[in-house]
Amino acid sequence: MVFIDIPTPRRRWKASAGPQPGGAGLDVLGMEVTQAIQNMAHTVRLIAGKATAVRVYVQPRGLTSNLRVRGEIVIMATPGAPGSYVASANEISLRATQHPTLAEQRRDAELSLNFVLPSPPVGPMSVRLKRIQPVSGGNDFPVMPGGEQNVEFVAAPMLRVRVLGYRYSDPNRNPPQKFTPDATHFDHLRSYLTRAYPSGGLDWSQAVVDAPTNFVPPFSGPQLPDGSDPLWWTLLGILHQNLLTIRQADIDAGWDPRTHYYGLVSDHSGFFRGASNDVPTAPAPNTIAVGPCGKAGSGFWDDDGSYGDWYGAHELAHTFGRFHPGFCDQSSDDPHFPHPAGAISDSGQDCVGFDVGDTSLNLPMRAYPRENWNDFMTYCDRQWVSKYTYDGLFDRLVAEDGLFAPQIA
Ligand SMILES: [Zn+2]
Repeated sequence: MVFIDIPTPRRRWKASAGPQPGGAGLDVLGMEVTQAIQNMAHTVRLIAGKATAVRVYVQPRGLTSNLRVRGEIVIMATPGAPGSYVASANEISLRATQHPTLAEQRRDAELSLNFVLPSPPVGPMSVRLKRIQPVSGGNDFPVMPGGEQNVEFVAAPMLRVRVLGYRYSDPNRNPPQKFTPDATHFDHLRSYLTRAYPSGGLDWSQAVVDAPTNFVPPFSGPQLPDGSDPLWWTLLGILHQNLLTIRQADIDAGWDPRTHYYGLVSDHSGFFRGASNDVPTAPAPNTIAVGPCGKAGSGFWDDDGSYGDWYGAHELAHTFGRFHPGFCDQSSDDPHFPHPAGAISDSGQDCVGFDVGDTSLNLPMRAYPRENWNDFMTYCDRQWVSKYTYDGLFDRLVAEDGLFAPQIA
């Protein structure tokens, strides 16, 4: 634990802000460098080139009234090396009584001081808390040596994804109408993959293509006693075959063979259940998947304007060999999933999910507590990525990167 002294405040702000002269102090409870999922021991690898949040957890003492503060960190390649300074992206309130505990702060992005590193380089990094300043002005709190976290950023392969939005005709409308996925669903999927997947960057492309003429709604029909839906199954086969044909033509024309293809189907004419054509146990980037997109109804856990993001992340993860852990009305084909009830962590691992957000989509920075967030390979609500799935995706990305790299003539 690190102790930071707060000096006797200047009289100018003492009256309003009012820490006890000489008595107030600040403990640093810890620092957490996170990109999607992390614990205080930093057992989740950090990836160079991926947006990173440094979360600083503090605990005031001796305050007589609440005090709003912001902070500054210095980051260095090694301790003592020349550093660069980063200001906190937010402010927090130091509470005179009942300041949130470390566990409470980790569960809520608004309770920690958060610093954003957009694209950290490969190699070691030393992060040190430099200063804590009252927002209302007045003296900085001088920071004692310490409050330091040393981490390492490793290189990771690019994630290569080409998303085709299928334009289909709905003959049941009068007059018949054509539907394509709205642009926002491409944007949300692209953003989500950037935030939640363990890659050093996203090589993304998108296009709209006409669906085969025999791909028409309705997208589901009567279920057989075994639970299968022959109508959906037929339509799925049509799209899979189409997507495989398009992909093969692209690869033959020189497209990067590591590219994963995903087909998007708008839910204007009903929900088209997603599926991959395989869950390959060995690297196979020619595995493809399709899935629905649209805006969830009010009251659904995901109300950000598109459910095509986490849904697409799930389907694409199948193409990287990720199976169903078997939670929330899902049959299990992954006996190795380590956490109870499909959660993103358990108390022993003590990971918390963290989403750096996306200002262009108006998505705030958020923490996802392990207590009520679940792995996106389950069918549970409130989905994010666990260390288990994150590591599995990373390993497969690495394997595909070497095996399928384009030949250089
Ligand atoms: Zn699935």
